[in-house]
This record gives sequence, structure tokens and C-alpha cells, in this order.
Amino acid sequence: MQQKKKNTLIYFAAVILVIFLINMLVKPMLRDMAIEEIPYSQFMSMLEEGKIDKAEIYQDSIIFSTKPDEQGKAGYYSIAYMKDNVLADRLYDAGVEFTPIIEKESFIDIILSWIIPLAGMAVLWLFIMRMMSSKFGGSGGAMSFGKSTAKVYIEAQTGKTFRDVAGQEEAKESLQELVDFLRNPRKYTEIGAKLPKGALLVGPPGTGKTLLAKAVAGEAGVPFFSITGSDFVEMFVGVGAARVRDLFRQAMSKAPCIIFIDEIDAIGKSRQAGQFGGNDEREQTLNQLLSEMDGFDSSKGVIILAATNRPEVLDKALLRAGRFDRRIIVDRPDLAGREEILKVHARGVRVSEDVDFNEIARSTSGLSGADLANIVNEAAINAVRNGRKVVEQGDLHFAVDLILAGAEKKSSVLSDKEKRIVAYHEVGHALVSIKNANPQPVQKITIVPRTMGALGFTMNTPQEDRYLLLKDEALDQIRVLLAGRSAEEIKFNTVSSGAANDIERATMLARAMVTRYGMSEHFDLMALSTVTNPYLSDDATLQCSQEFAAKADAEALAIIRRCHEDAKRILLENERLLDILAAALLERETLTGDEFRKIIEDYEKSKFNLPPAENQRHSESI
Ligand code: ADP
Ligand code: MG
Ligand code: ZN
Repeated sequence: MQQKKKNTLIYFAAVILVIFLINMLVKPMLRDMAIEEIPYSQFMSMLEEGKIDKAEIYQDSIIFSTKPDEQGKAGYYSIAYMKDNVLADRLYDAGVEFTPIIEKESFIDIILSWIIPLAGMAVLWLFIMRMMSSKFGGSGGAMSFGKSTAKVYIEAQTGKTFRDVAGQEEAKESLQELVDFLRNPRKYTEIGAKLPKGALLVGPPGTGKTLLAKAVAGEAGVPFFSITGSDFVEMFVGVGAARVRDLFRQAMSKAPCIIFIDEIDAIGKSRQAGQFGGNDEREQTLNQLLSEMDGFDSSKGVIILAATNRPEVLDKALLRAGRFDRRIIVDRPDLAGREEILKVHARGVRVSEDVDFNEIARSTSGLSGADLANIVNEAAINAVRNGRKVVEQGDLHFAVDLILAGAEKKSSVLSDKEKRIVAYHEVGHALVSIKNANPQPVQKITIVPRTMGALGFTMNTPQEDRYLLLKDEALDQIRVLLAGRSAEEIKFNTVSSGAANDIERATMLARAMVTRYGMSEHFDLMALSTVTNPYLSDDATLQCSQEFAAKADAEALAIIRRCHEDAKRILLENERLLDILAAALLERETLTGDEFRKIIEDYEKSKFNLPPAENQRHSESI
């Protein structure tokens, strides 16, 4: 604020200086241009010859005009003023009309030369300020302040409520108390209760943490101050700390309110987190934050919310009692949650009556709220693209595929042989999926290439959310993953690169079984690895001796080998069906779950009348 006033002052001082210079130098120059300057002696002789008509005597010059000549043209001249006691007499004698001019600016002059330019500059200034604040302050009349870079946002009203957040019932419940406190801090302070100063929203990206924080402010009807962790981390030491101070000072004056620090891990990283020498700037910022959090009086009704998806890296000091001691988990939505989120986002979209959000929710296990919001939007766009006025189920299916596998890549043309391989590969996945000990329904098989790299894909997401993975099921999953390649091997006696992703995923799962889930033969219930960022990825780092690492690898390999053999066996046992399905897929490019099941049913019925499997095994190569 201080800074801004100073800037304004400097700006106006500069403007006044410029106008002053214009008035002092440019205006007389313009005036003088039409006037010829002559020596005083020439003036004297002109005066004697009686040529001079009128004269204006200024303090430092005399400007005069001559009598019109034959063509009726008068000349204008100026001379420097010289102290000449008899000048007045001489002029009088020569019959010149003269008058002394005492320079006194007229009112109009002042308006013209000062007020109008100043007003113009002020308007320009306001205009620039308006432009800057709308640029940095975001939409919705948000206002910004701070040091030179405006990065702290205040929203008087976030416009979001708990109605906009679906499927995070537990989180909403814990936050409801804070809302109540913000609405009526007195109720709590009178009884002597202290409310937590801060709550930490923890969860994977896109699950609605930022949204929830805004909704708390909206529910309570209080201003929302927000800043992103990375905004603090600036090049210049001290800026981050100053910004924290700024933020708290501003917020205090607007209590009750919410301070929201998004992605707090950017500043809140553990101070001794291993790196040499540390990061001074970040530490200073963090220290400032800690001391501000201790220093402020929460009874006024200021609550600090922070969000992160890496709680494990946060400094312990941030998490201790009295700071962010409340942790609110905002996890990926479950089936009911996904359906709710789809419906929330469909509120503003014209949707056909027969749309079944439950079905979409079933096929989107593991997706976040942001993904689901995206699905609804892509579905709407697809409806428009196809010239429809309402969103239909097909649009939603299209959008699910788009989010899960990327856009269809119409341009890439596979050769017939490649197509056959891809078809067998995908049917391999699907067939093992339903022939496993724990069959998993198939929702879709397609061999339309996708931009995200897949040449085709098989969708067999579980129909309900699973919270536990049994060992049998883990093995089933690995079998399904390896079945694509297995089918290629059986039918073409050759291998392709198309299974890289399947192999990677199968390996990860087999490793996890051995090193984390205690599903191994050798290691009993010993954990050999730990997951570092549980909310960001499933990646685990090994923490065991070299010897055990080698042994764990050998065991994971054994699991994979066994599952690979199983997959091949299942496919060989159903080879006839594999051919039929692959042929159907090649013909239609996409099979829905129903079409897939229908083919299998028909086959089961007529199985006994069919000729033996077409034997192309080992007969082709690529
Ligand atoms: P995060 O901060 O957890 O990364 P956001 O709050 O920024 O995620 O969510 C991004 C967007 O995803 C939101 O603006 C909203 O449109 C949508 N979204 C995420 N979770 C939900 C939810 N539970 N209910 C409704 N919309 C959600
Ligand atoms: Mg966020
Ligand atoms: Zn595959």
C-alpha cells in the first residue's frame, strides 16, 4: 500500500514537470516561430522611419508589428528589451500604439495549460491501474494487493458453497464446524473454546481441495484471501516473508475471514529435508508463517486453510498443535461420490432424460473430481459438435474414452497385419478378464488408435469400488495385463512392442505384492519398500539390502512368469472364441460390453456344432 502511494506521487510529479517544461519552453518557442528576432538598432531605425504600428512591451522583450505594406501585409518582430528611459517618449512621438504587458496568466490560460493536461493524465492513470488490477486480480471483481507483484487475491465472495462440492461428505462435515465458527466466533469464545487456527486439506490433485476452501468461505459469507505456495518462493530474499506479513495484516483487518495457502508444500517443506545448506529464502518464509500463525488472535475469526498433496514433506513445526493440527483428507471420490460430482457439473448442462450417470460413475473408478468435471464438459462439447441440443449417454461414453485414453487418432493408418495383432491383443485382455477365477466384466474393446499412444484398449474397470486387493485378485489382474501379449504370441508366434505399458503395470503390481503387500513366499510380512508420495503416485522406493532386492526381483519375476503361462493357457483353452471375437472386433473396430457378451453367449450355445479352431498358429510372422 505504502509502495503504491509513493508510485502515484512520483508519477504525478513527473507529469507536472513535463507540463511545466512545455509551458516554459515549448510555448514561447511556438510563439516565437512566426516572429522574426531583430537587433535593437534595427528597431530604432524602423521606429525613426515611422514603420511601426503597434508594440507590446514585455518584461524581457518587445514584440511589435509594422504598418501594412503595399500588399497589406504587416511584419512581426521581436527584440530583446533594453533599459531605455526614453523609449515610451519615442514610441509616443512616432505615433505607435503601445502597451506594457505584465505577464499574468489568465484563468483560461491556466485551464488550458495546466488543468486539462493534468486531468488527461489522471484519467490515463486510472485506466492503466484498472487494467492492471483486472489482469492480476482475476475475475469476479477480485482485488489484489501486495508488493510490486500482485499475487495475493482477495475475493469478497467466492460464490461457492458446499452444494458445489459433491461426494466429500466427511471433509464437509469437518469443515462445517469452521463455517459455524466463522459465522459466529462469539459463540465459541464466550464459552472459552479455542478453535483450531488452521486445517490442512490433504489429497490427490483435482479432488476439490481448492474448491472446498472456497466453499467454506462462501458458506460462512466471509472474504477469502488466497495465495499459492509457489508465489512465496521468489528470487529475492525477504520478499516471501514480507508477503506473509502482508497477507496476515490484510486478513486481520478483514476478520472474520479465511486465509488459504494453496500448495503449501512449496514453502512448508521440511527444513532439514536433506539438502545441503538449505534454502534460506524458503526457510525465512516458513519461519515468518510459523510466527504469524502463533501471533494472531484466532478469536477474531480468522481461519487458515492450506492444501497439499504431499503432506509427508511438510515441516513438523507446521503440523504441531495450534497450527495445522487438523488434517482433512480429500480423497478420490467413491462410486456414489462420482455420480454426485457428475450431477453437480451437469446442473448447468442440458442433459437428455435417459442419461445414466450411475453407469458413467461405474466406469470411471479412480478418477478425480476434476476429471469428472472434464468428462461432463467434453460430453457437452461433443453434443454440440454433432449438432445436438442435449447431451446423450453416447456423448458421455465418448468423453470417458477421451479422458481415459486420449482422443481418437483418425490419421494413423495401421496396416492390416498390425490391425490383426492389435485386435488379438485386445481380445486377449478381454477374454482372460472374463475367464479368470474372479471374472471381471468387460465394458468396451476397441482398436481405434488413441492419441495417448494406445493402439486400442479394453475397458474392464471394476463395477464397484474396491478398497482391499486380495492376493488372488492381484494375480488375476496380472494375468489380464499379460494376456494381450500372450494372445499375440499364441496367434502370431512373434512379439511386438505394443505391450510395453501392460508389462510395466504388471511388473509394478508384482513388485508391490512382494515388497509391500506381504504377499510373497520369502519375506513373510516384511516391507521392503515404502511409498513416498501416496497422494501423487504409487511409486515406491526400495529400502532393503542388495541381497533382498535381488531376491525380491526374482520372486516378482516368478509371479509374472506364472501369470504369463496362466494367461496363455486360458487363451489356448478358448482359442476358438478368441478367433471369433477378434474377427468381430476387426470388422466393427469397437465392441461394447453387451456386444462382447452376446458373441460369447452365441458361441456357448452353438459350440458343439462348430468346426475346430482355425489353426493359424505359428503360420504367420511379422
Ligand atoms: P485440487 O485443489 O484438489 O487440486 P480443485 O479444487 O482445484 O482440486 O478442483 C478442480 C476442479 O475439479 C474444481 O474446480 C471442480 O470443478 C472439480 N471438482 C473437483 N472435485 C470436485 C468435487 N468433489 N465436487 C465437484 N467438483 C469437483
Ligand atoms: Mg488446488
Ligand atoms: Zn494391452
